[in-house]
Amino acid sequence: MPELDPRSLIFVASLLGLLGLIILLILRSSFPPNIGGLIHWSRGLSGMVIASTLFGLTGYIPVLFSVIVGNTMLVGGLMSFYVGFRQFSGMPTQARLLVVVLALLTGYVAWFTYVDDRYSARALLVTFTNTVLFFDCMRLIYKTSGTTLAGRFTGMVFATIGTISAARMLMLLFHLDQSSDLLEPSTSQKVYLASMAFAVLAITLGAMMMANERLRIMLEFIASHDPLTGAFGRGAFIELLAKELARAQRTGRRPAVLMFDLDNFKSINDRFGHAVGDRVIVDFAMRTREMLRSPDSLGRYGGEEFIALLPETTLAEAKAVAERICSRIAIASPTGLPPYTVSVGVAAACRNCMEVDILLSMADQALYRAKGNGRSRVEVTESAVPANMRLFS
Ligand code: GH3
Ligand code: MG
Ligand code: MG
Repeated sequence: MPELDPRSLIFVASLLGLLGLIILLILRSSFPPNIGGLIHWSRGLSGMVIASTLFGLTGYIPVLFSVIVGNTMLVGGLMSFYVGFRQFSGMPTQARLLVVVLALLTGYVAWFTYVDDRYSARALLVTFTNTVLFFDCMRLIYKTSGTTLAGRFTGMVFATIGTISAARMLMLLFHLDQSSDLLEPSTSQKVYLASMAFAVLAITLGAMMMANERLRIMLEFIASHDPLTGAFGRGAFIELLAKELARAQRTGRRPAVLMFDLDNFKSINDRFGHAVGDRVIVDFAMRTREMLRSPDSLGRYGGEEFIALLPETTLAEAKAVAERICSRIAIASPTGLPPYTVSVGVAAACRNCMEVDILLSMADQALYRAKGNGRSRVEVTESAVPANMRLFS
């Protein structure tokens, strides 16, 4: 790279960082605050932009700024990025420990500037700290977002920049890099600076893609789940059921459904108030979910009506599950809520009832009978009934 001198590369890094910072700030203003990381990422980028600008001005400004403040800003900026990724992953930020490390590092850099002016000693520790941060960011991202495209991209950027950093560290350690200052136009110095310029922008893009991905997942969850109980909403549940029935057509392993309706719920509302009624609904969803297996899904079908999908389950097995739920719900909840009961209608998919409407109408018919036969009980519908309207509501 004969045409690119280190100072130009450093300014390219500054400008790319500034561009990333502007984009990140715009994005931050439109993102919900519970997507962690954005504040720390923008602080991190600010630190890196300041650092590279100060490095680029080496020779024109005092070493206090171009070396001491510059290195502190660089490592502090990276630490802020790291804290952002920790926060994004829902982990403790370890901010205090990082502040102590940064203070020690600043002291070390000052020593090897004013007392014993040695560029290689300064560069070695700064590069070592950066390498550790890069690889730990990579580890965190692969661990928490490694399954998403955005996570894999960002993880790969950190792996690349971490490897380049580690290589530079080894070269400094074994005196293979004889650079005597940051602006020396050696090849290894240029590779390192060019990779830093690339990394600043790539990390920003990666972080933004991860935040976007997180937002998409959050919005999808909100759209498909009931906010009170966290169970699937009616539309999402019907979609799940349709998918399961289509899968059962291929595999021959058919699902069953349980339809629940809380008994005499109007009187719970009347006697204890709507807020207690809501808590009973939440309690029912929580206890029922605990009694279902992990592949099963619970949906809120209406006000105090729920429906469960039990993949690969026979009618007899589904009836046993329903009976367990029905009898355990009748035992007063330890939360101090008023006792309540539930009626359950059970239906299993069969050769001529592999359609959503038919299966739901069978479960609904069974539920209607459970209500008619005295409530707090389970009834089953054994075979398909003609597609009809819901009998019970
Ligand atoms: P049954 O045993 O026949 O089911 O009697 P019921 O009183 O439960 O009758 P029904 O199922 O028709 O009544 C449901 C009541 O649930 C009506 C409505 O006031 C109440 N409800 C519906 N959604 C909510 C909710 O989100 N919160 C509360 N607290 N009450 C609700
Ligand atoms: Mg009802
Ligand atoms: Mg009811």
